[in-house]
Amino acid sequence: MTAAARSPRRGAEPLVHRAQPPADVLIRGAHVLDPREGIDAPLDVLLRDGVVAELGAPGSLEAPPGAEILDGEGRHALPGFVDPHVHLRVPGQEHKEDLDSGTRAAAAGGYVAVVAMPNTDPTVDDATVLGSLREAARREARIPVGFMGSVTRGLAGEALTEMAELRDAGALGFTDDGKPVHRAAILRRALQYQRLCGGVLALHEEDPSLSGAGVMHEGEVSARLGLAGIPSISESTMIARDAAIAGYEGGRIHIQHLSAVESVDAVAVAKAAGVAITAEASPHHLTLTHGAIAERLDTRLKMNPPLRAERDRAALIAGLRDGTIDCIATDHAPHAREEKEVPFEEAPMGTTGLETAFAAVLTDLVLPGVLPLALVVEKLGAGAALLGLPTPRIAVGAPADLCLVDLDATWQVGEAGYESRAENCCFAGRTLHGRVLATLAAGAVVYRERAFALSAA
Ligand SMILES: [Zn+2]
Repeated sequence: MTAAARSPRRGAEPLVHRAQPPADVLIRGAHVLDPREGIDAPLDVLLRDGVVAELGAPGSLEAPPGAEILDGEGRHALPGFVDPHVHLRVPGQEHKEDLDSGTRAAAAGGYVAVVAMPNTDPTVDDATVLGSLREAARREARIPVGFMGSVTRGLAGEALTEMAELRDAGALGFTDDGKPVHRAAILRRALQYQRLCGGVLALHEEDPSLSGAGVMHEGEVSARLGLAGIPSISESTMIARDAAIAGYEGGRIHIQHLSAVESVDAVAVAKAAGVAITAEASPHHLTLTHGAIAERLDTRLKMNPPLRAERDRAALIAGLRDGTIDCIATDHAPHAREEKEVPFEEAPMGTTGLETAFAAVLTDLVLPGVLPLALVVEKLGAGAALLGLPTPRIAVGAPADLCLVDLDATWQVGEAGYESRAENCCFAGRTLHGRVLATLAAGAVVYRERAFALSAA
């Protein structure tokens, strides 16, 4: 018997994507900013065979024969972003998005890996569905994709999935995102299984009995517009409950799309008490408030959790700064145009976000001096570690997982269309600073901005 046959079954690789030729690229003179590596200086970056081969003073490195040269002068090279929370709508809702279009949108936004939620049709609630999804991603995904399995069968909140089987089949973790795990005893059992099979439990926190038929944040704007509201406590009370259960069971939970000041407080309290809890915030909750809905009743501004008040937004920013919030995640939620072109009350929840995340945060938070660029870059990649994935870095020997961006370039969101199949972007029409010119993921060039590709040729 060979050693391989005797060894225990190897865990499935966490991320899958379409094979692409490894890059031989010299990025000349870009300002390299990698906060984790402590790099903040203009450098030449030489990528050979998909790996960072050399870093050198600007103008010091030679392009080997056949290598492509990217002009980095006046531009920034950043470690690629990792999104722990996207909806790619496969299987079953390919009219909204698919693996190719969703990962194309991600690459255009500077992302080098994304993690897809299981609230698809059918739900990713067993190893067979997950297995064929990963096969499809091996054919179609432009950048590495990881998949979450659901906590409960069919997201019904009643019966747990076969979590160990899903883990063996490659699930990074578990979530019923779109819905809360409503019954405390179900979450408790899931945390007990987590001890055996690992994988983070990512939680969409909402008490349905408090959210009711709400369509936006409960506050002065909802009152003025006469729309049913979703109160902040719908989210924060569930976070407090679930943090207590996770602490009791010694489990690990990740809170998705934090939106309210009370929620940031609840996470901070749990962290201080030693609970293994992490949290994310989305670019739209960090940059917009319910005031935008007062200005225009646009269904692209309707998402769950809803855009809240200015004090909530301020608390999220403070949470990023002090470490209560670990990472930025887009909750990229594509919908077909006709699904969103209905009255506000009837429209589905969700905004796309992969193509605008960096530019929105740069424009509204970094350029006005609210948050340093280094912190934002770190938070846009920090989702990786929470899911047990390697964090992209610009260091000799590391795979090419980086993006080249022009911080000065401005563009109007949606003007030239989207890489995503969907158009429901809450930033549509806004002029944003910061353009991703090229993205390299898992060692390959996966995106070139059109004008930049032409000028490079
Ligand atoms: Zn959610």
